[in-house]
Amino acid sequence: MSALFPALAAPTDRPALRCGPDALSYEELLRAAGALAARIGDAGRVAVWAVPTARTAVAVVAALLAGVPAVPLNPRSGERELAHVLADSAPDAVLAGPADELPAALAGLPRIDVGLTGPAGVRVPPEPDPESTALIVYTSGTTGPPKGVLLSRRAVAASLDALAEAWAWTGDDVLVHGLPLFHVHGLVLGVLGPLRRGGEVRHLGAFSAEGVARELADGGTVLFGVPTMYHRLADALPSDPALGAALAGARLLVSGSAALPVHDHERIAAATGRTVVERYGMSETLMNTSVRPGGPPRPGTVGTPLPGVAVRLVEEDGAVLAGSDGETVGEVQVRGPNLFSGYLNLPEATAAAFDGEWFCTGDVAVREADGTIRLVGRKATDLIKSGGYKIGAGEIENALLDHPGVREAAVTGEPDPDLGERVVAWVVPADPARPPAAQELAGHVARLLAPHKRPREVRFLDALPRNDLGKVLKKRLPRG
Ligand code: ATP
Ligand code: MG
Repeated sequence: MSALFPALAAPTDRPALRCGPDALSYEELLRAAGALAARIGDAGRVAVWAVPTARTAVAVVAALLAGVPAVPLNPRSGERELAHVLADSAPDAVLAGPADELPAALAGLPRIDVGLTGPAGVRVPPEPDPESTALIVYTSGTTGPPKGVLLSRRAVAASLDALAEAWAWTGDDVLVHGLPLFHVHGLVLGVLGPLRRGGEVRHLGAFSAEGVARELADGGTVLFGVPTMYHRLADALPSDPALGAALAGARLLVSGSAALPVHDHERIAAATGRTVVERYGMSETLMNTSVRPGGPPRPGTVGTPLPGVAVRLVEEDGAVLAGSDGETVGEVQVRGPNLFSGYLNLPEATAAAFDGEWFCTGDVAVREADGTIRLVGRKATDLIKSGGYKIGAGEIENALLDHPGVREAAVTGEPDPDLGERVVAWVVPADPARPPAAQELAGHVARLLAPHKRPREVRFLDALPRNDLGKVLKKRLPRG
C-alpha cells in the first residue's frame, strides 16, 4: 500500500482543511502535524479530544504520521460513557487544543497541546505497516455499550479508495460538512477522505443550513450529512433560494449513518432537481454499498456493493439468498479489504461477529431485481415478526413520514398473544396540538404498503430519543 496521505509526501500550498478562522494548506498541515507527531513519540495510543475544529484533524493526522493509534473521544459523551471508553482504550496521553476544557476523567492523562503551526522542513516518517491500527473508533452505541473498533491503515485506505472510484472523488473536490469528528462518517470519510485525495475539507464547526449554502456557493463541490441534517435542509429549502441554488450546484450530495426517509429525498429532489446519494457503512466495515451518482436515483435504498466489497444476504436458516425478489429478508454480511481487525478487548464478540471471512453486520435487507440493496433495519430492533410475516420497521417509518401529520416516526415490534409481535408506531406529530388519529395513520400505512404492515397501536411523543448522529435509540423509547 502506498502512503496513507500521498499529498503530504510532497506538500504544496493547496488548501487542505478549513474550519472557522483556521485554514491550513498541505504544507502547513505537514508542519503542524509533523511537529505534533514528534511530540507523540512512541506512545502506545493517544486519545484525541474530538471537538469540531481544525486542531482535531491535525491531531489525528499527527497520530497517523507517528504510527500511533488514535482514539477519538466524543466531547459530548456523558461521564459514564467517557469512563468506559477511557478504561477500555487505556490511552497514554490526550491530544487537545490549548483552550479546550477537559473533563475530570481526563485529568490523570498527560496532555499534549495541539498547535496549528510547526517548523519547516518536516519529513514524513516511513509509512507504518498497513495492518497496524490507525484508529480505534467507538460504535455509536445504538444497540448496546459502544465497542472499540480497531481500524487498520489498510482498511481506511481501501474504503476511501473504493468511495473515490464509485463517486469519482478527486483532489479537485472540496468537501463540506458539519459532522462530528469521532465517528467513521465525519472523521474517516469526512477528514481523512479529502486528505487522502489531496483535496480540501471545509468543516462547518456546527452544522447549519446557512453554513452549507455559504460553503457550497464558495467552491464546495461535495456535501456529506446524516439524515437529520438533510431533513433540516429540506425544511429550510422552501424559504431559502440561496440554499436551493447551492445544493443544485454541488457535484455530489451524500447521506449516510442512518436511513434517509424517502419523504426527505423527495423534498430535496423537488426543490433542487438533485438526488441525494445514499451509502451504507458502519464502524466495523467502513463503507459497504452506495447508490451511484449518475445512475438511476434509488430513494430508500443504499445501492450496490462498492468496488472490492462483497455483500451477501443470509436467511435465518443460514441459507445464502440467491434471488433478488425485493421481498425476502436476510442479514447483510460483508467481506473485503474494508473490514476492521477486531473489537478492542472483546475477542469473543469479534469471533461471534464473523462467519469465516464474512462479517455479520446485524443489519437486515432485501435485494431488488436490479441488485440494489434496500436495508430493512437492524436484526435486533427493526425486524418485526407478526402474523407469520417478517416486516421491516424502515418501510413503515417511511410510509408514516409520508403523512402530513407526522414529523418523526419510529416503529417497533412488541409481544402480542395473537400475532407473535405487533407493529407499534411512535410518532412525533407535525402539530402537537392536533395529532393525527391512530386509525387514520393505520389506514394510511395499510393503503401504501399492505394491511398486515399497519400499526396496531400508535404512541405519540414530543421527540424521539436520538444519539449525536441523529440515530433513533429504539431501546430508549419509553416502553420499547
Ligand atoms: P452499535 O453498534 O454500538 O449498536 P451503531 O451500529 O449505530 O451502534 P455505527 O457503527 O456508528 O454504530 O453505525 C452503523 C450502523 O448504522 C449500521 O449497522 C446501520 O444499521 C446504520 N446505517 C449506516 N448507514 C445507513 C444507511 N444509509 N441507511 C440505514 N442505516 C444505516
Ligand atoms: Mg453496530
